Amino acid sequence: MDHIDELARALARLPGIGPRQSKRFVYYLLAASISERTKLAELIMSLGKDVCQCSECFRFHNETTTDVCRYCSDHGRDNAILMFVEKDQDLSAIERAGTYHGRYFVLGGLLTLSGKGAIREKELLRMVEKRLENGLQEVVLALSATSEGEYTADRVRTLLAPWREQIRISELGRGLATGSELEYSDTQTLRAALTNRKEA
Ligand SMILES: [Zn+2]
Repeated sequence: MDHIDELARALARLPGIGPRQSKRFVYYLLAASISERTKLAELIMSLGKDVCQCSECFRFHNETTTDVCRYCSDHGRDNAILMFVEKDQDLSAIERAGTYHGRYFVLGGLLTLSGKGAIREKELLRMVEKRLENGLQEVVLALSATSEGEYTADRVRTLLAPWREQIRISELGRGLATGSELEYSDTQTLRAALTNRKEA
């Protein structure tokens, strides 16, 4: 197989990239300077090296020398509130909105009705236990307004059932349109959804 096809196929495996788009990338790269290609290759190569996964919230980061990320190690953040998000990009979207100052936990996926998908259940339970010792009072389910998001929220509520008396569970207010993914929601909408969060 020639390199053009091989690279196009590799790129087509990336989320959201189809075969036609991946070919466009390849031809763009062919026309680009060697230094641009080298830079890109180096960035890809270094991904695994400097990036680590936070042992508490499970987001990927390269901010600290320890394995705990800057949000989890920041003593200024509110320990009373813990937010569950599907993925790192959702967490970044919430951070950009700038109004949330509690803790995070990345579920690592969503569950589907057909039984596909998985979330970090064991780690979630461990995190909740740990946060309870530090004054946890509220869990915010910040999941996309999709059927998978709702199904996953149900599962998380079941997991949290033993702490029903101690922990309030809330959801983002549905300023988020049905079907919308958190990652792509604009800052204004996210701020409103956070302010208007409701008992779940
Ligand atoms: Zn963290």
